[in-house]
Amino acid sequence: MSEYERFEFKQIFNAAGSMTRDEYDSYCVNILASHVDDRYTCLRGPRPSGAILLIDDDYHSVVYGGVYPPKGSPSCKEVGKCMIVDNHCVRSIHAEVRAIVHAAAIGYPVYESTLYSWNKPCYNCTITAIAAGVKRIVYVHIVYNEEKTQQAIQNAGIICEKYEGYIGE
Ligand SMILES: [Zn+2]
Ligand SMILES: [Zn+2]
Repeated sequence: MSEYERFEFKQIFNAAGSMTRDEYDSYCVNILASHVDDRYTCLRGPRPSGAILLIDDDYHSVVYGGVYPPKGSPSCKEVGKCMIVDNHCVRSIHAEVRAIVHAAAIGYPVYESTLYSWNKPCYNCTITAIAAGVKRIVYVHIVYNEEKTQQAIQNAGIICEKYEGYIGE
């Protein structure tokens, strides 16, 4: 198994049908909290990022999106520096897009999924989520908070809300 594949995981809930929306939120945010550091290979802050896609309420499956380089390429941590263009590291796609694309690649229906993100998604991740049919975005921290992102969420009529139950860093 390549390093790329080893980084990815999916998980199927055993408790199908028995969890409330609040319990899903708590479950997914806790998965994020426990993997966000080891699945983030960029060197840029201000904090790591990670995302989880909860596929839908029938399948009870989640797909994790970390921040990794393309398959076979070294990460920022391995190279020892980022690939900076216009003051952003462009070596890896963002975690939110990663979760959506990876879920689609391994055959999960992303339509009407819920996206849990460690940080409030940037504009590009948000419009990607809207295009994929994500119905709800839940985030833990705020790094980007742009007006155009808020407007896109409003125009699309999807939910984007902060998870208030997380007490850690
Ligand atoms: Zn980087
Ligand atoms: Zn993003």
